[in-house]
Amino acid sequence: MKDLDGLTDGFAGEIVRPGDPGYDAARVVWNGMIDRHPALIVRPATTDDVSMAIRFARERQLVVAVRGGGHSIPGLSTCDGGLVIDLSRMRGARVDPHARAARVGGGALLGELDEAAQHHGLVCPVGVVSHTGVGGLTLGGGMGRLQRRFGLTIDNLVAVELVTADGRLVRASEDEQPELFWGVCGAGANFGIATAFEFRLHPLEDPVTHGVVMHPVERAEALAERYRELVVTGPDAVWASFGVGLALPAEEYPPEVAGRPVAYVGVLHSGVPADAERDLAALRGLAGAAIDSIEAKPYLTTQRLNDEATAWGHRFSMRSNFLSSLPDDVVSAWIERVAALPEGASGGYSVWSCGGAIAAVPDEETAFTGREALYWAAAEIQWDEPELDDACRAWGRAALVEAQPYESAGRYVNDVAEVEDGVARTIYGDAKYERLLALKREWDPDNLFRLNQNIRP
Ligand SMILES: Cc1cc2nc3c(=O)[nH]c(=O)nc-3n(C[C@H](O)[C@H](O)[C@H](O)COP(=O)(O)OP(=O)(O)OC[C@H]3O[C@@H](n4cnc5c(N)ncnc54)[C@H](O)[C@@H]3O)c2cc1C
Repeated sequence: MKDLDGLTDGFAGEIVRPGDPGYDAARVVWNGMIDRHPALIVRPATTDDVSMAIRFARERQLVVAVRGGGHSIPGLSTCDGGLVIDLSRMRGARVDPHARAARVGGGALLGELDEAAQHHGLVCPVGVVSHTGVGGLTLGGGMGRLQRRFGLTIDNLVAVELVTADGRLVRASEDEQPELFWGVCGAGANFGIATAFEFRLHPLEDPVTHGVVMHPVERAEALAERYRELVVTGPDAVWASFGVGLALPAEEYPPEVAGRPVAYVGVLHSGVPADAERDLAALRGLAGAAIDSIEAKPYLTTQRLNDEATAWGHRFSMRSNFLSSLPDDVVSAWIERVAALPEGASGGYSVWSCGGAIAAVPDEETAFTGREALYWAAAEIQWDEPELDDACRAWGRAALVEAQPYESAGRYVNDVAEVEDGVARTIYGDAKYERLLALKREWDPDNLFRLNQNIRP
């Protein structure tokens, strides 16, 4: 794009065009499947820059992609031929320890918020990979290891500042534009560009107790039984995940499971060590574990443990759903499906415990839908060779069929990989979808913000 009239005067950020030395690096997003060529990438430095970019896009009738951390699984933060508004220059997290509050830039990554808060012994519940964007994660809900104790990220969101489709800066909270705030908490990418978030923080005792118990897959049902017991009877300080996968790369595992299907439970106990020992005793008491790595460690360490395994550039697909129960027949089906993973791909299933502080918030209080679930389940597959695309996507599509009878209401918008008409209604359900539609018609009637799970006005 040659003619940048209306954008160059007074724009304090950065502008990257096709042919510029940084263009190819600037258009890369997290999922290696996505390879798009925007006409222009801008990196605003201020909210005024964001308004200018929006006005510029409107005048030129450009498709707009908004990019926070770039982790959208279907690649919603980039586009072919349009304008990418990349918020990577609007980062940073500032903490007021006395008010137990954080103010975070719209393009910040989770690690920035975690570090700034932990510096004062505080925490905001966020996701489990530190290079994920606060923006996309929060606007969709925000699930993580502290969710049973402190709720979703949105349950700790006090206010958001948005540049809306008409270029105005608007603040939304429970008291200011409360209906917009309701929609932002779960469907936020539809309503504007969030330039700042304000979060409530909580004290967190350090260290936490964290780790994994792993068994050969033959004991999957016995382990699932202990897992269910922990989820149903354990305190909200316990978050636990149950998984079925392959012990790869083989050299990182003990010989009895190396390269083979395994079942595991991962836990984070955020209470004092003595409570953790008591609450996790039954889980750890199942004889024959190949690995038991549960021990005290700094919370920040746990928040970076998955960073490398989920590094940028791999090809990735997933499916997820909310479940009311996790019966043995589902676990058995998953074991068979793990054995059928395409050669050359890695992947498997993980289930996270929900309930607790998530369920304590009435469902109608936020656009996010899925609070009644006891579990969130995901099938994830990662690979590097383009020739495996069809086989891997087919594996992913079929992966959660057996769990369908146990689904509970809602879907987690941030995991939804398909981007077809009508998907958003399945995420929020009819009643909330109608309420979101009214909001969209008020705040973005021309659907400027359409690269998201779209509420089409
Ligand atoms: C490796 C990995 C780990 C993950 N772990 C978790 C987890 O533990 N918990 C969890 O809940 N989710 C998790 N997710 C899902 C994650 O929440 C979504 O992928 C989320 O959309 C990522 O946000 P982002 O800002 O990085 O993405 P982007 O691709 O930048 O954006 C995603 C969507 O949000 C919009 N958006 C982003 N920032 C803004 C903003 N400031 N204003 C307006 N719109 C914006 C974009 O337009 C796009 O539609 C994970 C994803 C990955 C790839």
